Amino acid sequence: MWYRNFLATVSIALVAMLGDLAVTLSFLSVNVRSVVDNLTHGLIGVCTWLTVTTQVPNIPISTRLWEIGLCGFFASAIDLDHFASAKSFWLQDARNLSSRPFLHCTSIPVALITSIYLLAYIWHWSSVQRLLWILLAAILSHHIRDATRRGFWIFPFGSTPPLPYSLYIVANMALPHVIKALIWYTGNSGKTISLSEVISL
Ligand SMILES: [Zn+2]
Repeated sequence: MWYRNFLATVSIALVAMLGDLAVTLSFLSVNVRSVVDNLTHGLIGVCTWLTVTTQVPNIPISTRLWEIGLCGFFASAIDLDHFASAKSFWLQDARNLSSRPFLHCTSIPVALITSIYLLAYIWHWSSVQRLLWILLAAILSHHIRDATRRGFWIFPFGSTPPLPYSLYIVANMALPHVIKALIWYTGNSGKTISLSEVISL
């Protein structure tokens, strides 16, 4: 079933390029472009986890859909920090921040996820491990896309230069394969997470 994995990987690039094209359309209002931009993040998250799960058999369809939807939700929800930093519900305020909001820092969430993952690994909390993989995929897919504009924010060292466009597309296509390899390497490939498990966490 290699072609499913191939198509899922290609869908990441297609969604990213179509979304990036849509946000440049001048006949769309600034607010609509902001919504399209956020939807693009969410859809890239969806395609990223779709790619992670395509070559893993025996995952019930409901679990597969739930995990994919969760990754898309996380990838989209990261931008809510614009509103939190602006202390406003208005898109205009959220867009006009003088500095990058906190969830757009790459180093701190990755360090936190790694720390919690180590605890979950030691104590065999496989559901927490799975949730952290989904969260990591969502955060990195979002940050890689944003890095084309402003680079990666690596606190306390500052920001990297913006990522070249082609590198951003390739990095987002490679991300689910790296995550899948890491899941396999840590021996957690057979474990998925259901909605009821997340609610009971
Ligand atoms: Zn963002």
